[in-house]
Amino acid sequence: MADEIPGLSPWLLHLCTCLDCGDALSVTQCTEVDEGGRTRTGILLCSSCERLWPILAGIPLLVDEPATYLAQYRESVLASLAEVNLASSKALSLIDDTIGSVRADAMRYGDDWTAGEDTAEAHGDTTSDVASDAASDDRGEAKRLYLQLVKCNQEAGVTGTVLSMLGAAQKGLIVEAGPGAGEISRALAERCEQLLLLDFSLRSLLRARTKAHNEEGAKVGAILCDLSQFDMASECADAIVAANVVDIIDEPQSFLRAASRWLKADSPFVMTTPDPSLGEGYDEALCEMLESLEYTIDDVRDDIPWLRRHSSRYSQLYWLQAICASI
Ligand SMILES: [Zn+2]
Repeated sequence: MADEIPGLSPWLLHLCTCLDCGDALSVTQCTEVDEGGRTRTGILLCSSCERLWPILAGIPLLVDEPATYLAQYRESVLASLAEVNLASSKALSLIDDTIGSVRADAMRYGDDWTAGEDTAEAHGDTTSDVASDAASDDRGEAKRLYLQLVKCNQEAGVTGTVLSMLGAAQKGLIVEAGPGAGEISRALAERCEQLLLLDFSLRSLLRARTKAHNEEGAKVGAILCDLSQFDMASECADAIVAANVVDIIDEPQSFLRAASRWLKADSPFVMTTPDPSLGEGYDEALCEMLESLEYTIDDVRDDIPWLRRHSSRYSQLYWLQAICASI
């Protein structure tokens, strides 16, 4: 699997900017490369303020304090790299050199994807469970209704709604914020030239990147970041997708403001959320926030099902609002 995973591609490096001063970054140290000679393990340097940013598995760590982040998430980061056979001694050295003498309480990733959203290889294909359920007619009324809902969720749920709002035209760069286990990433990679994944969890980025990777599809890259504090090159994105993420970001307004800079004029920003009130108590809160940031709201759809199938006996159902906005 490791051979399929790219290092840091020039197009991805081109999008990265220094979190402190906004200037361009370049690779200053490279201890491990992929088969194409691209940096897999190394360090990015800001030529203006000389801050350093680590690269692990070809993914730049553009968080405010990389040393503190790695001190907090060291075990989760190592476990995530091991899952994709990238926990090399060079990666371990970079992590420990970056941490240096920084001490922090250990944290774990809050990834909460369900078995049904995760890779079929790892957890069994729940879609075929549903298909075999549907094939037997001795089910009760409630189960028959549920199976209709499963079908509706597959056709008109989050992925179907996001793709329909994006439109059929092939895109250049799509930025996906908060890819989770990569359910939508895989579909997006067939709709664009380059897919950029943004998340705070290295595990999520590695899963989604692997899922979206396809020889025929888009080039897939990832940046590890805190969406409340992240920025990158202006007017780079032909579309932005944020499915079920706006409501769980600490500062959604900061993210939406930064995203308005990344987006090219009249390009779609598609978001879905189970909580468009953003905790304010009324469902128009998200649309109002977008308008205050000078977005134009192009489409709002409500009652989109988001069925989270944990096991054959446990499912969760949310009703989402989907919004397509532009600048
Ligand atoms: Zn800088």
